[in-house]
Amino acid sequence: MAHAEAGSIIASLESRPLKNTIVLFDVDGTLTPARRSASPEMLQLLSALRHKCAIGFVGGSDLAKQQEQLGTPSLNVTTLFDFCFAENGLTAYRMGVPLASSSFIEWIGEEPYKKLVNWTLRYFSELDLPIKRGTFMEFRNGMVNISPVGRNASNKERAEFEAYDKEHQVRTTMIKKMKEAFPELALTYSIGGMISFDVFPTGWDKTYCLKHVEEEKARSGTEYTTIHFFGDKAFEGGNDWEIYKDSRTIGHAIKNPEDTMAELKKLFDL
Ligand SMILES: [Mg+2]
Repeated sequence: MAHAEAGSIIASLESRPLKNTIVLFDVDGTLTPARRSASPEMLQLLSALRHKCAIGFVGGSDLAKQQEQLGTPSLNVTTLFDFCFAENGLTAYRMGVPLASSSFIEWIGEEPYKKLVNWTLRYFSELDLPIKRGTFMEFRNGMVNISPVGRNASNKERAEFEAYDKEHQVRTTMIKKMKEAFPELALTYSIGGMISFDVFPTGWDKTYCLKHVEEEKARSGTEYTTIHFFGDKAFEGGNDWEIYKDSRTIGHAIKNPEDTMAELKKLFDL
C-alpha cells in the first residue's frame, strides 16, 4: 500500500514548491535498517517530501541491492526517487532514465587490479577470525568491496563481526596495510556497513553524485542551490563523511532511520 502511494503520479521537478532544493539520502542505516527494507512509514514520508522538492538516494551498493531494500517486485526503485545514485553515482538514474556512468576497471587497468586482488586473497589467507563465510571480494562497476568475514554472512554473523571488528580493528588494520602496499594507486578506502570496506579511485566517494546534481542546470535549467544530505556514517573514515562535510551540501548526521524521519518532519514540516 505504502509502495503504491509512493509510486503515484509525481509532479515534474520544475513544478515542486522548493524547486531549487534536493534532499539526498544514504541508504543503509539512514533510510533502512542495515541490509533490510525501508518501513512503510519511511516510504510515505519520502513520497510526501517529493511533493515539495527533489529527492535522491546515494548508496555504495549496486542498484540491484537498492531495488531489494527500497523497491518491490512490482515497483522499480527508479520510480520512487527523482535521482538514484547507485555505487555513489557511478550508476545514475534521473526520473527513471539512466545517466552516463564510469567504471573502476577502466580507471585502474587489468594488471594493477590483479595485483590488488592477489594481495587481498593472500592477506585473507593469513588472517585469523572467529568465523569466515564466503564472497570476500565483490567486483562492482565503480569499486571493489572487500569483506574479511565475507558477504555471505547472515545478519547475526554480520553483527558479531561488527562487534569483533570494533574491538580488534580488523578493517582499519587491513586498510593501513593496503595503503602501504599500493602507494602508487590514488585509491580511497572507506569503511561502510557492518562487514566490509570499499576501495575506489579518490574522488569517487559519495561526492561523485554531486556532479550529476550540478549538471541539472545544463540539463533542465534547474540549479540546486540547497542540497541536503542525510547519512549515518558521517564521521572521518565513514562512507558518508566526504559528502557530509562537502561545502556544497548541508549535512545531517543521523543515527538511524527513525532519526532521519524525525529530522525530515522538523525540517520540511511534514
Ligand atoms: Mg549508511
